[in-house]
Amino acid sequence: MAEDIRHDWTRGDVSALFALPFNELIFRAQSLHRKYFDAREVQISTLLSIKTGGCPEDCAYCPQSARYDTGVRAEKLMALNAVLDEARAAKAAGASRFCMGAAWREPKDRDVDSVCAMVEGVKSLGLETCATLGMLTKDHAKRLKNAGLDYYNHNLDTSPEFYSDIITTRTYQERLDTLAEVRAAGIAVCCGGIVGMGEDEADRAGLIATLAALDPHPESVPINALVRVAGTPLGDTAALEPLDFVRTIAVARVAMPKSVVRLSAGREEMSDETQALCFLAGANSIFYGPKLLTTPNPLADHDRALMERLGLRPMPV
Ligand code: SF4
Repeated sequence: MAEDIRHDWTRGDVSALFALPFNELIFRAQSLHRKYFDAREVQISTLLSIKTGGCPEDCAYCPQSARYDTGVRAEKLMALNAVLDEARAAKAAGASRFCMGAAWREPKDRDVDSVCAMVEGVKSLGLETCATLGMLTKDHAKRLKNAGLDYYNHNLDTSPEFYSDIITTRTYQERLDTLAEVRAAGIAVCCGGIVGMGEDEADRAGLIATLAALDPHPESVPINALVRVAGTPLGDTAALEPLDFVRTIAVARVAMPKSVVRLSAGREEMSDETQALCFLAGANSIFYGPKLLTTPNPLADHDRALMERLGLRPMPV
């Protein structure tokens, strides 16, 4: 079992996984998935944008950056009661984890106070809590942990080499530093990336190798397909081949066998068949709800029907 869980994956090792015949790769991914998880279970999260738009960062894929004209308006941080109403609705719809996202470079002290109150409130409803608020200091990470935060999401987005094509306002190392603070505070790490941003397979291998070098591996690994939003620099990027997306999921599963691999943004544009292949490749988490921050997501009814057709069921908390 120990040899399945490795932190010494080289780029070459990961590239070799990408180069496997498709069926061989899926077989390996599925075998490991079944070894560490009940392959019929899918963890369900709901993501709420608690502070939308107006972000000073320049992430080229993001409609919430204040630098791009995407029609997303800057809003204030949501009120506590409104967030708790959304959390109750998410729970009633079957979510086990409630993720709160804010479009900040990093939170200020008073923002952390507000989010801590939200974490306490959501937790008291019997949901797992997750937040994505940008870069965190040691103190902010500790305060969020003390409020009961279970997971913190902070993605690496892509390979170290391709990164500067996508973001210039914060460094790759700053992202790794935030992940280290989250881990040191005892909060579980949710960290993945986005594919289909014009990167090549070597970059996808570089992303997975960097994630798999984290020790321990992130508990949760979201793999997003770029949602091409008009007005962002990546609005006209060519779509990624669906099978290349499935391969990325399978490679993530093989490289990080015990992590929950989340089929994240981009599902709205994916066929049911592609999603079914992703589950076969080892994806075992999705987001429920009509929106992912500001971009569309399949309706919960459609997701429930798809899970039923595939014989999948929600993972208990
Ligand atoms: S991805 Fe996050 S940090 Fe980057 S522009 Fe969007 S909201 Fe800001």
